[in-house]
Amino acid sequence: MAYNLNAANWRGIPRSSGSAYAPSDYTASEIDPQEEETWDEWERESQYESDPKCLFCSQVFELPEDAFHHCNEAHGFDFLAVKRSLGLDFYKCIRMINYIRKQVLLKPDLASTKEFGLTGQEEFWDDDELLQPVMEDDALLFAFEELEVADDGQLQEEEERHNATTQKVDLSAIQPTTELENKLLHMLKNSSERNGQLQEQFEEYKKMVKTTFLTNIIDDTRSERSMSVMSVRTDNTQRNKDDPGNYYFESYAHNEIHEQMLKDKARTEAYRDFMYENKDVFKDKTVLDVGCGTGILSMFAAKSGAKKVFAVDNSNIVEKAQANIKENGLDHIITVIRGKVEEIQLPISRVDIIVSEWMGYFLLFEAMLDSVLVARNRWLAPNGIMAPSHTRILMAALDDEDLKNDRYNFWDDVYGFKMSAMKQPVLNEALVDFIKPHTIISTTTTLKDLYLQQIVTKQLDFSNKFEVEITRDGTVYAFGGWFDTWFTRDGHPIPLSQEAQKVQGETFLTTSPFGEDTHWKQTTFVLQKPIEVKRGTKIHGVFTCHKGIENIRELECSIQYSVDDSTDVSIQNFTLRS
Ligand code: SAH
Repeated sequence: MAYNLNAANWRGIPRSSGSAYAPSDYTASEIDPQEEETWDEWERESQYESDPKCLFCSQVFELPEDAFHHCNEAHGFDFLAVKRSLGLDFYKCIRMINYIRKQVLLKPDLASTKEFGLTGQEEFWDDDELLQPVMEDDALLFAFEELEVADDGQLQEEEERHNATTQKVDLSAIQPTTELENKLLHMLKNSSERNGQLQEQFEEYKKMVKTTFLTNIIDDTRSERSMSVMSVRTDNTQRNKDDPGNYYFESYAHNEIHEQMLKDKARTEAYRDFMYENKDVFKDKTVLDVGCGTGILSMFAAKSGAKKVFAVDNSNIVEKAQANIKENGLDHIITVIRGKVEEIQLPISRVDIIVSEWMGYFLLFEAMLDSVLVARNRWLAPNGIMAPSHTRILMAALDDEDLKNDRYNFWDDVYGFKMSAMKQPVLNEALVDFIKPHTIISTTTTLKDLYLQQIVTKQLDFSNKFEVEITRDGTVYAFGGWFDTWFTRDGHPIPLSQEAQKVQGETFLTTSPFGEDTHWKQTTFVLQKPIEVKRGTKIHGVFTCHKGIENIRELECSIQYSVDDSTDVSIQNFTLRS
């Protein structure tokens, strides 16, 4: 494998010279009507999952109208009456809901108010910040319009529907007063040119507003956004400027890297087996696939009985994922969302299972676990399961002179020339390659235990003591590291003594030199000074690993070690680069 810092070579694939396919732009006009229907259907089915919550107290209701009714009965706040008496438009209703929610957060006493009134003179009515939801997934924000319709009765509703489909829209009736309102109206006007019917336009307009809520409303690029059903993308040039590290996601846009991962049978089958062999765990569950790539894990989850799967990825590969999912007739279950999992919004507040293949070389290379933990903290239900739920980094001493010869001594005689200057960085670079099992000369030590249900981001940079015992006489030329991964039915932690065991109902994936080859290979740290050892010798020390200072997707490691009772301490630094 060729190492090249600029090659965006995250999973060992040589950089391809160009995109395998041209990125296409989503526009509203490209919305597939079938997809639209699926989304609407799903929205209807899942509308009660968002638990409409009272504006004042913590009571939740099955239906939004019940929540509004309760606001009136228990807190003296009649939403519809206030809306009508103050002549509130769509935006002002949204601001009002968010204002009340914010006030309740600031003044918890409000939860017991029996009377709540607004005069229309308050300052918040023009505050655009209040267009952002204060409560994530706030069902009331999406329901207040229906309240009016329901109140006017069935007859009027039908009449309105009829009028709505036959009348031309009167855009002048919508009075934007702020910049944001102006932009939203501008989008509506654009769409009205394509579409002359009020109902259709209003629905589209509402969808745009909703979708804007589902993305970051503050983002200045919003006017450049074009929407698909649940997929919002920013202009690529803009995104690159915003995110100088975007080359990471671009590297995942190409087919080869995904082909390589999918062809890694140990890897892909571990995910598949866990899901297919535990269908009772997945049945009727809501699953989030963080970094869906081609959509493979989402499709496994859907086939395992999941009720709903959200497939998220920030790379152009999502376009392929969408196509793959559709081709396999699973688009009624899986919704593809383009974006960073840290930035997207889900239309529900909790998921039951998070599935993600985030593991990089030496486990933590790529720093993708940080993103998965953000997703866990945002959405995983209290008894939810992470898949995988446990990983562990392991290390042993290696007696392999070839490693040093290949990487270091090679420069002593290059076609008859000495190139000592080239030796300089070599021993400070961790090497990703297969370790020959017979070169392992010690016991295995656990460098880091990661219980994914609970671990926090700052624990991903670590400094841990280790000790290995030499199992035969020889010379230690290097340390070699790899990782093990467990998928458990209920997310329980794996005891340290259970290393590398297969337990009933659990799926185990190892990247050990003794296991099946994987695309992660192993990671080797070649020592400057080889250590002569006898059977029973103990090498102990401290292994430190943290994200790269310059590039957080890389890893910087240091191994500080000494032998038996010697007071000589050696330390060597390594960087793991792509
Ligand atoms: N799940 C697929 C792909 C795994 S590769 C499979 O198992 O084959 C990891 C994927 O995660 C890449 O496609 C990458 O673009 C995506 N990814 C990494 N970090 C992400 C983030 N913060 N938000 C969204 N997607 C992310």
